[in-house]
Amino acid sequence: CLNILLDGNVFLDFLSESLRGAKVLVTGASTGIGEEMAYHYAKFGAQIVITARREKVLQQVVEKCLSMGAQKALYIAADMASDSDPEKVVDFALDQLGGLDYLVLNHIGPTPFSMWEGDMEHVRWLMKVNFFSYAQMTWKALPSLEQSKGSVVVVSSLLGKLTSPFVAPYISTKFALNGFFGALTHELAMKNSNVSITTCTLGLIDTESAMEKVNHVPAYPATEAALNIIKTGATRQRELFYPWYTYIVTVARDFFPDVRDYFIQKSYSYTP
Ligand code: NDP
Repeated sequence: CLNILLDGNVFLDFLSESLRGAKVLVTGASTGIGEEMAYHYAKFGAQIVITARREKVLQQVVEKCLSMGAQKALYIAADMASDSDPEKVVDFALDQLGGLDYLVLNHIGPTPFSMWEGDMEHVRWLMKVNFFSYAQMTWKALPSLEQSKGSVVVVSSLLGKLTSPFVAPYISTKFALNGFFGALTHELAMKNSNVSITTCTLGLIDTESAMEKVNHVPAYPATEAALNIIKTGATRQRELFYPWYTYIVTVARDFFPDVRDYFIQKSYSYTP
């Protein structure tokens, strides 16, 4: 609602004002929505630490961020499947930036788009990357966010609200995120915490990794998705639905479950 009321240039001025010099850690920022978020934060004059696994690509993103106006831009290569890297990344950001205002959790590990054939190793690995590391980084960053009246921004999916075939391990991680951060939102409110949590429910976005898998639904631009995530985090709103239809689907998903499941299954061609 605040986004609509303050849309256009007035809202962008407000964002520039509030994000100039902000201390931001963005994960999964070597490509896709995370990379686009890094560029938006840079244009707003933030101080950014980005992370992902591929060092060379991170280096290029950092250079571009600096040329776009970031007050500071640094990277740290890390693997979120490791037990220690998630905390190492937060420590690095706290040391280099002298605290944190925004922890933007966005990374996901690659996962096949196919029937689940019992690969438990992959489910365990993906849970580590897409879920456990989110919880671990949040816990590590909370004391600093508490001091700065900061925010945790969690990039989730419509597939954290609605089930669909061929993505069982991925969906599990997104449902887990929504449950975990929903519970944490209650707990922080009950503790009168200064920290806000924003959860982002995204529909199909035109990143390379998504387009390789799904092309029967209209995709929305990554740069616009990224800006909406940043706006929603900066205004400390509880939830973002982008694009608009994700809200309608979330509200209506349980009205007629058999009809819903029929259409979901019929939208894919599959011969057993
Ligand atoms: P991408 O696949 O484009 O980017 C994923 C990022 O995560 C990359 O920077 C990748 O970099 C990093 N990454 C992958 N594995 C690891 C790992 N083990 N450790 C650390 N970093 C890792 O994703 P999108 O931009 O498409 O998606 C971003 C977010 O948006 C995700 O949370 C996704 O669930 C959500 N979303 C996206 C939708 C879409 O249609 N695109 C729809 C709904 C939600 P590197 O390989 O260098 O490690």
